[in-house]
Amino acid sequence: MESSAKTAAKSGCVFCNIYKAKKDKILFQDDLTFAFYNKKKSVSDIHILVCPIVHLKNCSTLTKDNIDLLRHMQKVAEGVVAKLSPRSEYRFGYHKPPINTVEHLHLHGIVLPIKSEFLSNLRYGKLLTPTETIIQEVEQGKSLIEPKDDSTKKPLVAPKK
Ligand SMILES: [Zn+2]
Ligand SMILES: [Zn+2]
Repeated sequence: MESSAKTAAKSGCVFCNIYKAKKDKILFQDDLTFAFYNKKKSVSDIHILVCPIVHLKNCSTLTKDNIDLLRHMQKVAEGVVAKLSPRSEYRFGYHKPPINTVEHLHLHGIVLPIKSEFLSNLRYGKLLTPTETIIQEVEQGKSLIEPKDDSTKKPLVAPKK
């Protein structure tokens, strides 16, 4: 099947390729989004990613037109993790540039507990921005680039005692 203009896949993009080739297990898919397992198991036993089918680069390229999509991605992520691991605690969020590893917008959905305290705080706690915060920033027209000095930010994950 040829991908239509609507899917707007970017050649060479890892996540576009996952969607096109269906190589990884697609956990969920609808007209706008798809979800699959993040292979980095070091973070948590269950760690999923939700992506828009259309290749959007990252949080800094979002506009008000994308707010419905962001809300939808959050709902999809919540639905998928709840199905994989009911009655658990979850963490959701985006990496903001320049922290992105893959340049295709993706929402992390993590079933707690996060295994590594280092990852928990650094990469998947402190630096994981919730959907609502992203939406607020888009609404306010703020720059969605992570400031260099983020020492004032509180970690999302409480440190272990
Ligand atoms: Zn892509
Ligand atoms: Zn990420």
